Amino acid sequence: MSDALPPLQGGCLCGQIRYEATPTHRDGYYCHCRMCQLAFGNTRAAFLNLRKDQVRWLNGPPAYYASSKIARRGFCGHCGTPLSFEFLDGENMDLSAGSLDDPGQLRPNEHFGVESRIAAWHVDDGLPGSRLDANANIMQRWRAAYGEGAEPGLQTLRRAGGTIAVPSAATKDSA
Ligand SMILES: [Zn+2]
Ligand SMILES: [Zn+2]
Repeated sequence: MSDALPPLQGGCLCGQIRYEATPTHRDGYYCHCRMCQLAFGNTRAAFLNLRKDQVRWLNGPPAYYASSKIARRGFCGHCGTPLSFEFLDGENMDLSAGSLDDPGQLRPNEHFGVESRIAAWHVDDGLPGSRLDANANIMQRWRAAYGEGAEPGLQTLRRAGGTIAVPSAATKDSA
């Protein structure tokens, strides 16, 4: 008998991109960073973090764009639904919580990027929050890519010329 959680299914609005995800938990989190706000066209993003090898794209991978020098975001090339976020060098990735067939399966447990959280759109829910620049891994990645002293976030991105608007060449999933 296995105590493994059943797989989660999800996909985009038009149905062209579908995935199966096998995380070992049901924790979700919010990211309030300005980059996620823009990438989702929303006041915040909601994510499920899991290992890259725990995601299987059922009809082929999504389209990707490089949202910074160090990360790419997956989306449906037909309808535009934001589907994923990942650091290029990381073992983990995020799926957008809203792209799950049943987002209610997740429990949000944390607020990330609280330095740009929009007060008027946030009701205190008692969950812990942390800043982007309090995460040592993220700071290290940003400074390796954008220079010593660079702060992670939209301003650094803009100063460096913005996002790279062409789809990333490295779109092949190893899985
Ligand atoms: Zn679609
Ligand atoms: Zn973010």
